[in-house]
Amino acid sequence: MLDTAGQRVWTEVDLDAVAHNLRQVRELMQGTKIMGIVKDDAYGHGAVECTRVLEKNGVDFFGVATIGEALELRQAGIRSDILILGWTDPDQAALLAEHDLIQTVVDVPYARELNARGLKLRTHVKADTGMNRIGISWQPQKKDLDGFFEVYAMKNLSNEGIFSHYPVSDDLGEDAMAFTGRQTTMFQELVSILKENGIDPGLVHIQNSYGILNYGDMGFDYCRPGLLYMGVTSNDAIPVVNDLDFIPALSLRTRVEMVKDLQPGQTVSYGRHHEVQQPETIASLAIGYGDGLPRLISNKDLTVLVNGQEARLVGNICMDQCMADVTGLDVKPGDVVTLIGEDGRKRVTVDAITRCSESINNETFCRLTKRVPRFFTGTGDPDAVRKQAADQEDADGGH
Ligand SMILES: *Cc1c(COP(=O)(O)O)cnc(C)c1O
Repeated sequence: MLDTAGQRVWTEVDLDAVAHNLRQVRELMQGTKIMGIVKDDAYGHGAVECTRVLEKNGVDFFGVATIGEALELRQAGIRSDILILGWTDPDQAALLAEHDLIQTVVDVPYARELNARGLKLRTHVKADTGMNRIGISWQPQKKDLDGFFEVYAMKNLSNEGIFSHYPVSDDLGEDAMAFTGRQTTMFQELVSILKENGIDPGLVHIQNSYGILNYGDMGFDYCRPGLLYMGVTSNDAIPVVNDLDFIPALSLRTRVEMVKDLQPGQTVSYGRHHEVQQPETIASLAIGYGDGLPRLISNKDLTVLVNGQEARLVGNICMDQCMADVTGLDVKPGDVVTLIGEDGRKRVTVDAITRCSESINNETFCRLTKRVPRFFTGTGDPDAVRKQAADQEDADGGH
């Protein structure tokens, strides 16, 4: 059992579930290697721990957003290749070189600046096939072939890969699928042109989580799943082509602070948006938007589990606290409240919070703040979770 005694709020990350989810992705992607995207502290799941689990299960390449995130992995002793997916100030070139990090080429002027530092730097070139965020343009409106040629010719840049990104791979509508298809074709065309011109483009990769779920193994060198190890997609309501057998890895829990009985006419929390109609028992919970719970979920009747019993949040979410209607339930101060995860036979999902806050699960995870300590369970064994469930069923069947 986890020792969460004394904690007011915490997350539990099941590393066996992370390993199980990785295996689901690998079975779908077969020939394509996996670059583990562990940016923003692995979407709040713990970058160092998740990277170790992925490494232990055969992942040899990692992607982060910033040089700070890359250095955190290096300081934890992770020696695998690390690609920084976003911009790094060229003034940090010495750190990139010293820690053997791979930097994304954001555009041609950026590459010139990096090259001018006079250090041997490892890079992957970003091709912009339609996201229009970063990358050298390779779109019908502008195909900057000279830009790619110039970057690949730079003496100090070791361009070991080329990659692009899909903005609508989550959308199975006709237009979106046509757009994604054109991006893929254009990207493949770019890679061919480089090769025809005697340039080795290096490792080729384009698929993110939805690119993986909806387009499967496309034969590129790597794919770049992030959210999938966490065992969820961005939104449960979005259909996908390959529905994998995922296990959500993260649970979010807090505790009951106090319990009180209120009479009709009394109101709860800022703004007085919840007015008591029948006598109600209200529990105050030790979590608020300062912990990352979106304030937008206020007054949306979100279900939480108090001691494994369903209750609904009422009134505005405060910075450090919120309130639940626990009328008729057995509840006392110190009891555990689950906002994401299982308690007993019941489960509440991150998706419910996400839907009430009109967001995506990626953001709901990334909102969790440093005030929320993280506890890990499991050892990164992909077989452990299903085995535990089967053992539990045997035990249940036995009486
Ligand atoms: C964040 C990111 C990913 C991973 O995205 P998911 O949707 O979590 O799989 C992949 N590639 C790039 C460039 C990213 O920024």
